[in-house]
Amino acid sequence: MDTHPASEVITRTLDAALERTKAAIRIALCIISVLCICFALPIPAHAQARPSTSQIEAPRLELVVLGSGGPGATGRAGSSYLVLLDGVPRILVDAGPGSFARLGEAHLSLSKTDIVLLTHLHIDHVGELPGLFKARAVSTGEAINFRVFGPEGSNGKPHKQGDASFPSTSRLMHLLFDKQGAYGYLKDFSAPVSIQATDISTRLQSKQKPQLLLNENGLRIQAIAGHHRDAPAVIYRIDYGGKSITFSGDIDAQGLADLRAIAQDTDLLVFNTVVLDPPGSPSVLYTLHTPPKAIGEVARDAHVGQLLLSHISPAVEEDNAEVEASVAKAFTRPVTFAEDGLRISP
Ligand SMILES: [Zn+2]
Ligand SMILES: [Zn+2]
Repeated sequence: MDTHPASEVITRTLDAALERTKAAIRIALCIISVLCICFALPIPAHAQARPSTSQIEAPRLELVVLGSGGPGATGRAGSSYLVLLDGVPRILVDAGPGSFARLGEAHLSLSKTDIVLLTHLHIDHVGELPGLFKARAVSTGEAINFRVFGPEGSNGKPHKQGDASFPSTSRLMHLLFDKQGAYGYLKDFSAPVSIQATDISTRLQSKQKPQLLLNENGLRIQAIAGHHRDAPAVIYRIDYGGKSITFSGDIDAQGLADLRAIAQDTDLLVFNTVVLDPPGSPSVLYTLHTPPKAIGEVARDAHVGQLLLSHISPAVEEDNAEVEASVAKAFTRPVTFAEDGLRISP
């Protein structure tokens, strides 16, 4: 029987489609064989060792600002930072009020954070410790051993009339977390918690050398005495993966020689920036803090890679262009003003 004209058209169309498909398959096979030949050629070593995307995303050393503010409730959390090693939060530096909420907003877990560095025991630097310790405790069922480093107490230090009195870091831990302490229940609440506290000397000596606190698995943490009027204060430096971060803490002019010593060639210096150049701030604040011009000079002298200005006061926030210009008179490398939630790699 003769083919119906309509069927003939359909058959021809199908034949043509089949031919086009075959041609496409031949081209695809050609491309695949060319690719196979290309990939059979020797690949340079650096290309073979190319890391996966997730490896590229995590810097060896990274800083997350949980709190970039100071004592006043001005919209920033009090001083607090997380240091990430290979993308994992491992070290908490200060624990200012509000950092608990910022931690949640940053979607970071404290489940591997057992090292705590306290620059001094003013409330805007340690007020959130119980909240963060509890957050850590409920993040796991496994035993936790916090290693807490911080300043020695006022006892034994030269005392002037009117000076405030501060406990040592180990005494603060006892007061807060011992069985008879304010939050003694935490030790057995979610996971067994133990705390190993180390008090660091804060006596200023000429040509002081940094003290090595910890040296394990490529992580080095050093400390040196700072100076913050009557509050015993410590400066810290963290080295990991060939990079380093140094934390000035709150610091006045008497602590700057030690800061210069420990911050030599550091990649990132976090400098607490509270006052304007004199006479722009109340005179009492210059007995506690370092003005922008001196911050720039210290950073220049220590050959710092970049500066992160943090612990920002409202005065500094309002005049940030002036502050930046004053720092830049001596220090010409990158300067960043911290914000809560900022992530920065040295
Ligand atoms: Zn402070
Ligand atoms: Zn302070």
